[in-house]
Amino acid sequence: MLTTWTPYARIGRPLEAHNARTPEDYLAIQARLVADLQRARPAIAPRDPFVSPTPPVMAPFINGGRWGVLCGCMGLVSYDPDWQLACCGGCGAIYEALEPPDGWEEAEQLLLQRDQMNQRHWLPQGGFGHAPESVEDLARENRAHGLR
Ligand SMILES: [Zn+2]
Repeated sequence: MLTTWTPYARIGRPLEAHNARTPEDYLAIQARLVADLQRARPAIAPRDPFVSPTPPVMAPFINGGRWGVLCGCMGLVSYDPDWQLACCGGCGAIYEALEPPDGWEEAEQLLLQRDQMNQRHWLPQGGFGHAPESVEDLARENRAHGLR
């Protein structure tokens, strides 16, 4: 694939998605996104940001080289495994104290051995019609493609 774009050197988080440098930054950016949407689209205006009383539809996973969760509104929302936080700019949901899947640091290292962002996927609990994938599954896929 010919591209002038450089794949991320780490799995993408809210810094890459929104330029959020801290959890406080991320919450402030979400508040601006929600306020913009309330002004621009009053007919579908989201409520002000709120801590979701329920977990996301899909717990943290890696899609196209980026961490995300699937929000209750069915939006894909950027997630940070260190901050354990995901903030939806579409519906205002805040998912906090959201633990990353077991083995996430090893999974990140395995996925970063893959050259292309579109090869960096991990569904630890399954989803989108796929069975759950273990860290060992990722290692086996890497070996099958000649990676260490
Ligand atoms: Zn949402």
